[in-house]
Amino acid sequence: MNQTAQKTALICGISGQDGGYLAQLLLEKNYRVVGTSRDAQTTDFRNLRSLGIFDQVEKASMALTDFRSVLNTISHAKPDEIYHLAGQSSVGLSFEQPVETLESVALGTLNLLEAVRALGLPIRIYHASTSECFGETGGKPVNEETAFQPKSPYATAKAAAHWMISNYREAYGMFACNGILFNHESPLRPKRFVTGKIISTACQISAGADARLKLGDIDIRRDWGWAPEYVEAMWLMLQQETPQDFVIATGKSHSLREFCEFAFATLGLELTDYLDSDPSFKRPTEIRANCGDASKAERLLGWRAKSTMRDVISMMIKHELPAYSDIGS
Ligand code: NDP
Repeated sequence: MNQTAQKTALICGISGQDGGYLAQLLLEKNYRVVGTSRDAQTTDFRNLRSLGIFDQVEKASMALTDFRSVLNTISHAKPDEIYHLAGQSSVGLSFEQPVETLESVALGTLNLLEAVRALGLPIRIYHASTSECFGETGGKPVNEETAFQPKSPYATAKAAAHWMISNYREAYGMFACNGILFNHESPLRPKRFVTGKIISTACQISAGADARLKLGDIDIRRDWGWAPEYVEAMWLMLQQETPQDFVIATGKSHSLREFCEFAFATLGLELTDYLDSDPSFKRPTEIRANCGDASKAERLLGWRAKSTMRDVISMMIKHELPAYSDIGS
């Protein structure tokens, strides 16, 4: 008989892309998984359903900006580990909703830290920090020592949350880690994110739809990885002896143009026949190029990205294409 006590994980923001894959991973590891949404009564938890794990997860409503709600949720769930993934997560939307972004990301993280501190429990915390905090690096690989120069309300809020995690770790000895994750994609990525939009539009066109791909600047460069691999890194961070921050990335940077060209070519389409430039998608400030150096994660966690950008595109197309099989019939 297995004598190891079952661990409980609280995933804040379980309805999102990473929440779904992380819940799946932790259930496979025999965790009890409790997941929060702002309103668990009305959220459809589409990702948990599509992964076939909806019934295995306990759901709770939690408003990160409300300290009492955060405190109650944690004290009821009694987690060993908290994975804090919740908050407004779109860079583009953060220019339209800067206050909502700052409050949900920065104040939300502070509430969570204060609640764990008030409860005085030895809970380990993972925080979803982001490569956006680095700002413009010209595509030079960055690591945990690189200075932050955020270029959006989203990145500024995440940088504040990142430093609160570091500060509470140092000031109160809390086991709190920042995972500084570069872009990671999957079929669970909502269509409002550019990669989901590109794959969905290409699949619709390939199935016969009269659609056009409208994008802003396609010469920006990003380091894209595969989300299911990235949630493994989150778990590994909380299994270490000491809490630390880690960059998680593939180490390869590609332009959005390359992403589009490969997606369309995979479906036998010529990108230039369907692409429209739309200046309304351009942001007030934009990072031209980024790239991560995840050598610390490889050295200490034994983690390394396996999937390339092309693998990610192929897997997203394979999943998306059947959804449009009846177009044109
Ligand atoms: P998603 O946007 O898919 O999920 C985030 C969750 O946060 C949502 O399910 C939602 O839950 C909740 N949420 C959304 N808006 C708000 C808000 N205004 N206030 C409070 N809660 C909100 O994100 P991902 O799964 O892609 O990413 C997980 C985390 O990792 C996020 O914090 C993101 O910023 C960060 N990150 C993601 C990267 C990526 O490439 N995917 C890269 C680096 C960092 P509900 O609606 O159910 O309340």
